[in-house]
Amino acid sequence: MATHRARAEIDLDAVRDNVRTLREYAPRAELMAVVKSDGYGHGAVPCARAARQAGAGWLGTATPEEAFALRAAGDRGRIMSWLWTPGGPWRQAIEQDIDVSASARWALDEIVAAARATGRTARVHLKADTGLGRSGCQPADWPDLVAAARAAEAEGALRVTGVWSHFACADEPGHPSIAAQLDAFGEALDQAGRAGLDPEVRHHANSPATLTLPASHFDLVRTGVAVYGLSPSPDVGTSAGLGLRPAMTLSASLGLVKQVPTGHGVSYGHAYHTAEETTLALVPLGYGDGVPRHASGVGPVLVAGKRRTVAGRVAMDQFVVDLNGDLAAAGDEAVLFGPGDRGEPTAEDWARVTGTIGYEIVTRISGRVPRVYL
Ligand code: PLP
Repeated sequence: MATHRARAEIDLDAVRDNVRTLREYAPRAELMAVVKSDGYGHGAVPCARAARQAGAGWLGTATPEEAFALRAAGDRGRIMSWLWTPGGPWRQAIEQDIDVSASARWALDEIVAAARATGRTARVHLKADTGLGRSGCQPADWPDLVAAARAAEAEGALRVTGVWSHFACADEPGHPSIAAQLDAFGEALDQAGRAGLDPEVRHHANSPATLTLPASHFDLVRTGVAVYGLSPSPDVGTSAGLGLRPAMTLSASLGLVKQVPTGHGVSYGHAYHTAEETTLALVPLGYGDGVPRHASGVGPVLVAGKRRTVAGRVAMDQFVVDLNGDLAAAGDEAVLFGPGDRGEPTAEDWARVTGTIGYEIVTRISGRVPRVYL
């Protein structure tokens, strides 16, 4: 693996510590480590293994293909996959003992047909829309979904292993929609119970709810971003304040360091001009690697022990920092973000200056950047 240009180091001890910490936040619930989108950019398989070692009883993925990749890598534990479209690979999921999700009758009907074809019992989580307004069954259609699921259960085609939902605003503690969603979830659970369903796990909490709202923990918490050590939002806290350790450190080796005169335009569009005779350093990472172009002029970088700022525009493969005359050499390390304990910026810092969330900063680091596991 060519790491001479740049690397994303992934500290699997941090992943393990974060899972243990999250289990302390939700001591009575099981923990699902959400490893979708290649483990939020950290690498799904190594992070899943680390999470399992620290006691994650479940893994969660969006797409079924992500779940199949975990099985292919040898994971034999409980896995749930929730992002389905008509004609999806239900049979393969059932054959691989992957729990699936149904938000609508078409999904339930396809699951029943696939289960009959395999001769096996599908494990299904019925998803209620308690207010997110994304996936999940609307309250008006819920009685029909639970009744159909109960009938399929009686026939042996499936077992309703879960009833679940997802928050809209858990990252804003105290938001009125949170209590409303919990009320709606209680109603959905009551209706499922009255229809004769007895799910093994009821689950609603993501990372922010796991960290801030014990009443949302139920039987299982689905934690993603906090597994990787990031806070879900400034309103929830800083990762350090929450007891989390960011797992990813993104760094590069300076490709070129050179002296330039006063007034020198820097990078495309000359959005930056040197204020004096100075030293410019080239960082060989760009938006092709997932560094946001919105970081132009604002992204923080640690070079030779000092915080610098991206000078001018981020290009596809590289950007420049102005060292204000300080010394550095080609090959010296530039750290874009990490845990923050060596003075480097954090992914949360990058999220703030680029107007996004830490989730996006780490998830978008592209496959061109080699992952190095510590
Ligand atoms: N559950 C579902 C359905 C999700 O889509 C996600 C991620 O967005 C999570 C849980 C994990 O959320 P978080 O990363 O905030 O813990």
